[in-house]
Amino acid sequence: MNWISKLQKLGENIKRNIKKKWPTKAEQESSKFVPLNCCNTGPIERSQLEENLFVCPKCSFHHTIDVRTRFDMHFGKNNWQEIKAPLTTDDPLNFKDQKPYKDRLKEARKKTNQDSAVLSCITKINGIEIVVSGLNFAFMGGSIAQNETENILYAIQTAIDKKCSYLVCTASGGMRMQEGILSLHSMTRMTIAVNQLKKNNLPFLVLYCAPATAGGTTASITSLSDIAMAERRVTIAFSGKRVIQGIVNEKLDERIQRADWVLEKGFLDLEVERKEVSNKIYSILSILLKKDQLSKKNKDEASSDIIKTKEAS
Ligand SMILES: [Zn+2]
Repeated sequence: MNWISKLQKLGENIKRNIKKKWPTKAEQESSKFVPLNCCNTGPIERSQLEENLFVCPKCSFHHTIDVRTRFDMHFGKNNWQEIKAPLTTDDPLNFKDQKPYKDRLKEARKKTNQDSAVLSCITKINGIEIVVSGLNFAFMGGSIAQNETENILYAIQTAIDKKCSYLVCTASGGMRMQEGILSLHSMTRMTIAVNQLKKNNLPFLVLYCAPATAGGTTASITSLSDIAMAERRVTIAFSGKRVIQGIVNEKLDERIQRADWVLEKGFLDLEVERKEVSNKIYSILSILLKKDQLSKKNKDEASSDIIKTKEAS
């Protein structure tokens, strides 16, 4: 064996050992420790991250969480009831890319234990009733198609029937291309539904959640809110940064499309820490609802004044 073959053998041994030491996905999921990619400070105990509401204790990065965890976190365990919406046709266009769309849906449902990317519920925050829809990024990137739209419309109708406020916790890549024009049509349907909320004088809030909201979701429902909140430093965009950079052919601000930048530009009302979300929602709703009551009281007083004036004349 000459020195080149010896070196090659040594290299292969090192490669084999590295591969052996690399944990499998199942091992990673069952491990007590989770890697923190946000600030490269090494792994952290899973329980510690959970206690900190999945926010990095070192750099305050807000990690992505699923909708059920979010509802438990903000509204309390067993303090919210799911609103089940009817499902429509799963695959209207019989769509297939590298995989049939039906298979992608099946996988997403198994992974998230949800029928669609949207989960809606009715809950109370310090006694104020509210209907909430949450988009799950783990379900095909939180994209919106027909089933998701039906769920949102059903939730909005529930809010109108119960005369309570509506909140959307959004984490979504936009409209789902596998349902083509039918997904795009959802933008109009959601816009009309939000207008119905406004006609009924019901507050509509949006919370932009980690990791991002983009495309048709930003271009329709989420931009129509009365108050727009965002978790710290999430991405809020229409098209991706690289796409814009390619079109304008110049270097963009590093913070572009980040919540603090969007706030500066006036498209956002406030940036909140995850632990502050329910308190903020409560204070906003109490202000908005009191204002509604006040304006109603003023209207009543004004109309009784008119009646009195008529009687006097
Ligand atoms: Zn970190």
